[in-house]
Amino acid sequence: MRISKCLQQTKPYMFVELNRKRAALEVSGVDVIALSVGDPDGPTPQFIVDAMVQALQDQRNHHYPAYAGSEEFRMAAASYLKKRFGVEVDPLQEVLTLIGSKEGLVHLGNAFVDEGDYVLVPSIGYPAYAAAATMRNAKCWLMPTTAQNAYLADFSNIPTEVLARAKVMFLGYPNNPTGACAPESYLDQAIAFCREHDILLAHDNAYCDICFDGYRAPSVLQRPGAREVAIEFFSLSKGYNMTGWRIGFAVGNTQAIQALASVKSNIDTGVFNAIQKAGIAALESDQSCVQENCAAYEHRRNLLVPALNEMELACAYSKATIYVWARIPEGYTSASFADYILENAHVAVTPGSGYGEDGEGFIRISLAVPDDRLVEAVRRMKTLLSPGE
Ligand SMILES: *Cc1c(COP(=O)(O)O)cnc(C)c1O
Repeated sequence: MRISKCLQQTKPYMFVELNRKRAALEVSGVDVIALSVGDPDGPTPQFIVDAMVQALQDQRNHHYPAYAGSEEFRMAAASYLKKRFGVEVDPLQEVLTLIGSKEGLVHLGNAFVDEGDYVLVPSIGYPAYAAAATMRNAKCWLMPTTAQNAYLADFSNIPTEVLARAKVMFLGYPNNPTGACAPESYLDQAIAFCREHDILLAHDNAYCDICFDGYRAPSVLQRPGAREVAIEFFSLSKGYNMTGWRIGFAVGNTQAIQALASVKSNIDTGVFNAIQKAGIAALESDQSCVQENCAAYEHRRNLLVPALNEMELACAYSKATIYVWARIPEGYTSASFADYILENAHVAVTPGSGYGEDGEGFIRISLAVPDDRLVEAVRRMKTLLSPGE
């Protein structure tokens, strides 16, 4: 058999390899602290579980769901957007239920990208953006994303011939893995740029509700002109501890939403209605469960950041997300340093290079572990990296 050209060019998903190394240690009896996962440690709140249990008992939910999502879920998503961002959208034309936002991000490629086209992706970014290109035999153009530009992907130097074949620009703020947040002026520049060059702006807003220090992340759809060029992806995974449930939604430009809906109706048959009921309970709740998560992550961030800086793993206080992005010591690559602390401190972190070459020199550390495990991880790393102190 012969696998496809695009799959041959696709590297195995980074986390698959990382998890393999960690699992090998665990099998041999080692207690590994996984600061590598972007998966909230807390359970899904009980009221959300209860909504699913109740929906499971109703046989009307046992049939095929609507392709684009139930009207009820899409209305709940629309009213969440209204309450949270003051953005008004038509739930039936401008909202689409997704099997987790990753699914929508990658399938966006099927709707907009042809072989030989370009997809504009940040040079450090969530791997699904590049997959939207590679799965279509298209090319990625890496927009430089570095500490010098505050990790705001730079789209000012893209060659004209690339722009002529560029279909989609992916951005995501608050950012995984860097924790960077984008000022509204940056989103405005991206909107203007995409309008000028007839490019779809795909904004991944998976962390919009995980903010600290009073910060409130914006929606790109709040910005003037966004509705003409932008689609925005929301996830229930991080805010509501629902990673395993696989539910998210896309909102924005009607043509983009309808194109993605058309792709999906040819591939999947929607999200189980009982899961959408649980999603409605989450979106319509008073959001206090999200606030509790934020308080927990903020506390952990405040514990971790000074400790890492003391070990000379320089990092800043992220204003959002569940990650800290830290510089590694001289003499290592991201991968060799991650291996070093995995093998010697039994702490798993994610090498920055897994998010693109510009991530070299950094590691991503997750805050999604209980406080006592984080404290223990810090202790182990300190013993390894700053012995005698
Ligand atoms: C976790 C994550 C997602 C995907 O979440 P889903 O579980 O697929 O909804 C999307 N983008 C970023 C940047 C993420 O970290």
